[in-house]
Amino acid sequence: MAQNVAVIGAGISGLAALKCSLEAGLRATCFEKSDSVGGLWNFMDHAEDGRASIYRSVFTNACKEMMCYPDFPIPDEYPNFMHNSLFLDYLRLYAEHFELLRHIKFKTAVISVRKRPDFAITGQWDVTIEKAGKKESAVFDAVLICTGHHVYPNLPLVSFPGIEKFKGHYMHNRDYKEPTQYAGKRILVVGLGNSGADIAVELCRTAEKVCLSTRSGSWIMSRVWDKGYPWDMVYLTRFQSFLNDILPRAISDWLYENMMEKRFNHKNYGLAPLNRSLRKEPVFNDDLAACIMCGTVVVKPNIKEFTETSAVFDDGSVMENVDVVIFATGYSYAYPFMDDSIVKNSKNQVSLYKGVFPPTLEKTTLGVIGLVQSLGGIPPTSDIQARWAIGVLKGSCKLPPKDKMLEELNEAEGEKKSWFGHSESLSTDYVTYMDELSSFIGCKPNLSKLFLTDPKLYWEVFFGPCSPYQFRLMGPGKWHGARKAILNQWNRTIQATRTRVVSSHTQASSFIILATLLFMPLLLLAVFLAWS
Ligand code: FAD
Ligand code: NAP
Repeated sequence: MAQNVAVIGAGISGLAALKCSLEAGLRATCFEKSDSVGGLWNFMDHAEDGRASIYRSVFTNACKEMMCYPDFPIPDEYPNFMHNSLFLDYLRLYAEHFELLRHIKFKTAVISVRKRPDFAITGQWDVTIEKAGKKESAVFDAVLICTGHHVYPNLPLVSFPGIEKFKGHYMHNRDYKEPTQYAGKRILVVGLGNSGADIAVELCRTAEKVCLSTRSGSWIMSRVWDKGYPWDMVYLTRFQSFLNDILPRAISDWLYENMMEKRFNHKNYGLAPLNRSLRKEPVFNDDLAACIMCGTVVVKPNIKEFTETSAVFDDGSVMENVDVVIFATGYSYAYPFMDDSIVKNSKNQVSLYKGVFPPTLEKTTLGVIGLVQSLGGIPPTSDIQARWAIGVLKGSCKLPPKDKMLEELNEAEGEKKSWFGHSESLSTDYVTYMDELSSFIGCKPNLSKLFLTDPKLYWEVFFGPCSPYQFRLMGPGKWHGARKAILNQWNRTIQATRTRVVSSHTQASSFIILATLLFMPLLLLAVFLAWS
């Protein structure tokens, strides 16, 4: 059974893995190559090789009640969607609160993770680190890889004929930091993911022209959803997930498309996805539609070719005199410190059981945390993955035999394609995935028990947001504050925006005035009839 664990990386996933390892009584050492916690959420004014890089204006696209660790709510005074600097503060608070810092070796890069010669018996790993130019190796019973997956840019230049003769500047969006230097320029942004949409919207305020090219379109959601509540508080519910499970696919697709079209008709804005029913990650952008409406962002189809100065699109239209092309074409992932065959299958695709364990290792003593992509926030997902992985390492959770894992992986691949389309990422449905892992751990909320013993909580758990606290409500790893956090989640959401309190007295009196105006004539008529 594993005793000492190496955690690689101190971003969201590494902090969760470290905290859960310590909570489970393991000896854990976290190696972080930078000098601080938070990973991607540390804004730097230039991109550094081998590290994630964000632009200055990034805000979270999951709200604070859905993007917290399940036993550490985000402070009441924080807004619902947080600027990257504020979310980084939260991660620091988490690290301090759970006294994680003393277990982290900063400025220490893991440069190699190799099976020991007796791996088939011991499952142990040789981990080599580099600090200040010095290399050192140590033996670990288990390794949790938490190095992030938005680090290595996907820059598919072969898909863009003529780019080699283009005389303007081109770059991947990981090098984009802020709009200042692009003022007055003619800019083409390629790719309609969250990065592409954010950057096009930001640049169009000061650029001369901004075009946004998309090959397959996307649904656009707003952070501000029904009745002004955060989209994920309204949409990521067990009830919604239950409907998806029981309704025929055609009906759930129809409901999904209708929901996406509620704010505007995507076809009229040139944004509609080619495959309307795929649950590919939507773009969360509150301003894109308005920019298109005002003509400051022009949506274009895929690029056919570049000339020296312009871009020609598939529909034959041309953007002339392009100064800068920003490829917001996503990321691919890599684990340069270990043999690819550990996590990749024969087709060179990452193949991990439940997105965590390589299924073919002789001993399951290596897990990847934070790689799965779902609509939910990363902190709760990494927390549940870490708890499950540690359960497996400690022997309290069991993995199926190798054949069964491979069989399930094949089935899951087919299922994934049907819901999310072809993609490199390990996409999955949030509620289903969280429930699956929590049932392995034994901490899945017991709904029938709640219905009978605590109907108020049951209601909120089933119909309300599937917030992270639900996965620390019962079973191993139970957090005593979970019930209260669930019952207060709407209040905290509103508290962050209701910074000018409108008294109920004012509302009541306007209601009375309205009612009087409407009903007075009826009342007078009734009195008149009674008297006559
Ligand atoms: P990272 O944050 O990338 O952390 C990895 C850490 O590992 C880093 O600190 C790195 O220095 C360290 N490391 C790497 N290699 C080594 C090594 N060899 N040795 C030692 N240390 C190493 N997700 C959400 O849930 N909500 C959002 O709103 C959201 N917004 C996003 C916005 C942008 C622009 C991007 C690109 C992604 C966003 N994501 C969001 C996804 C994002 O990847 C996760 O939020 C999260 O940062 C992932 O955390 P992580 O710990 O897995 O990886
Ligand atoms: P992404 O979601 O992978 O989007 C990449 C885009 O590039 C897609 O539209 C894709 O089109 C397009 N693309 C890829 N290869 C292409 C090619 N060869 N030709 C044409 N188009 C191509 O990447 P991202 O936008 O950088 O987002 C990465 C992650 O960071 C996501 O999880 C996202 O949520 C997160 N993020 C969050 C925020 C935030 O506000 N918090 C901001 C930015 C990013 P197809 O759809 O056709 O494949």
